[in-house]
Amino acid sequence: MNDTPSGQLILWGSRGSSPTPGGRFIRHGGHTSCLSLSHDGAQFVFDAGSGIRELGRSLMEDPPRQIHLFITHTHWDHIQGFPFFTPAYTPGWEIELYGAKHLHKPLKSIFKGQLDRDYFPVQLEDMRAHLDFHHLQEEPLTIEGVKISWIAAEHPGVTLGYKIEVEGKKIVWFPDNEFLRGHLDPLDELTRESEVIRPYLPVVDFVSGADLLIHEAQYTDDEYPSKVGWGHSSVGNACVLAHLAGVRRWIVTHHDPTHDDAFLETKLNLTRRLLDRMGSKVQVSHGYDGLTEYL
Ligand SMILES: [Zn+2]
Ligand SMILES: [Zn+2]
Repeated sequence: MNDTPSGQLILWGSRGSSPTPGGRFIRHGGHTSCLSLSHDGAQFVFDAGSGIRELGRSLMEDPPRQIHLFITHTHWDHIQGFPFFTPAYTPGWEIELYGAKHLHKPLKSIFKGQLDRDYFPVQLEDMRAHLDFHHLQEEPLTIEGVKISWIAAEHPGVTLGYKIEVEGKKIVWFPDNEFLRGHLDPLDELTRESEVIRPYLPVVDFVSGADLLIHEAQYTDDEYPSKVGWGHSSVGNACVLAHLAGVRRWIVTHHDPTHDDAFLETKLNLTRRLLDRMGSKVQVSHGYDGLTEYL
């Protein structure tokens, strides 16, 4: 059962870029991006990375119902689990799939392409669930009492971050976002008024006051100089976002496939030190596959 009366969040995939199995990755897990949120019988899913396969298995324990699936973008690590999502093959399930409106082709044709015969034995037409594809316009959506809004991320291609407002709480799902792209300087002096922050104020304001921010910090500050423009934040720059936005808690997700459990432990300590240096009160922890939060 996924539902509790008040609702819950489960992080089914906390890895970025590529699934990462193996003994060195057991504690955090190796599934790519997927988050579920259930509330009062309504089922929301954010991204369809390899983590969505396990979510599907869990959903199949309950009778078929409607699922609202929001995609941040269509890179592999955010859609590759969809062909293995059992509810999509099962009559009675209704999957409402949402994505950005400015994709280079319709969302449906991207999902159809992923299921082309050259890549997969089963095609989109063979999926027995009722599937609907929606391109998000400007206005936020309110679905069964849950408000969902979005903003463009700094990431190659058209990519979104989502804000979920439910039960008076703000939760932000922002797995791929290169905050302060190219910024390598010391971090402790930055304020909302800083020149480098100004272009990013809409993102700071979007995230502002979140009870829970789920955002990446894929590269250490040592790794970042060789990865500028790849679409992912340095630890330091992601700390600036969490701090300036005044979020209460930050769960780091989208861990780099080269970062094993031991490395991620060190990286979390580094993140905490950087936040301390900024005088930040943000509570930070690392996401892992299976992490569960109650609303
Ligand atoms: Zn990604
Ligand atoms: Zn991406």
